[in-house]
Amino acid sequence: MNSPEATTPRSPVGHPLVGFEHSELVYPDGTHALRDVNLTVREGEFVSVVGPSGCGKSTLLRLSAGLESITDGYMQCGADRVGYVFQDATLLPWRTVWDNVALFGELDGVPREDRKHRIAAALATVGLEGFEEHLPHMLSGGMRMRVSLARSLTLDPDLFLFDEPFAALDEITRERLGVELNELFAAKGFAGLFITHSVSEAAFLSNRVLVMSGRPGTIVDEIEVPFDFPRSPDLRFEPEFAEISGRISHSLKGAHS
Ligand code: ADP
Repeated sequence: MNSPEATTPRSPVGHPLVGFEHSELVYPDGTHALRDVNLTVREGEFVSVVGPSGCGKSTLLRLSAGLESITDGYMQCGADRVGYVFQDATLLPWRTVWDNVALFGELDGVPREDRKHRIAAALATVGLEGFEEHLPHMLSGGMRMRVSLARSLTLDPDLFLFDEPFAALDEITRERLGVELNELFAAKGFAGLFITHSVSEAAFLSNRVLVMSGRPGTIVDEIEVPFDFPRSPDLRFEPEFAEISGRISHSLKGAHS
């Protein structure tokens, strides 16, 4: 992805965009998904959540997007514009790259000229200029994910929700997209809430990594990742990075047992 503004300092971490306090969620069938969740994501910070399968990570994202409601406690989302990226790029197969990226602006009623500018800028940001007329089946998995990111970028989100967006990609593509997302975050300054199973991906991308217990999920640990943004791909080879990843893995192992 091209991030021409990557050297611009990010806006400082600001007011809370998502807040959970003693939040509970019991689904109508009685499944107790979340228990006493306390979590804040502030403007300009990137927070990852790791935890065992089925512990309620996707539920946490759906709540943050306003697609579900908690059943007890307190929850608030103060974001004006929310971007949501899933593991599956969820593109419409009959629409070209351009028309897929246009979708959210169309649904949001963005005027045509403004929409055109936003689509062109988003495609340039994710490095997909020249692919505007391609259909999704003509793209690699990594390119499809870039289209999905671009589609949300047209909304200029102040909060970006990511549900394991790179999980289906090969390791090299996954790492490259992680670096590009990190540059994008450094340049744009949106807040991010990122679900992943990859400890090193969580550590590389985030200001903080939260570890969840098994269901009913609750946050059992929080690990600060104190490196500046944007982060160099070589950070992954630094002993300090290995030490932090080790702490997350250790905590995650405890959460599984
Ligand atoms: P994760 O993303 O951590 O794998 P989810 O948030 O998808 O976990 O799900 C948490 C738990 O809630 C799981 O046990 C799942 O089966 C259950 N669950 C998710 N959605 C519903 C639903 N609509 N009704 C009942 N149970 C659900």
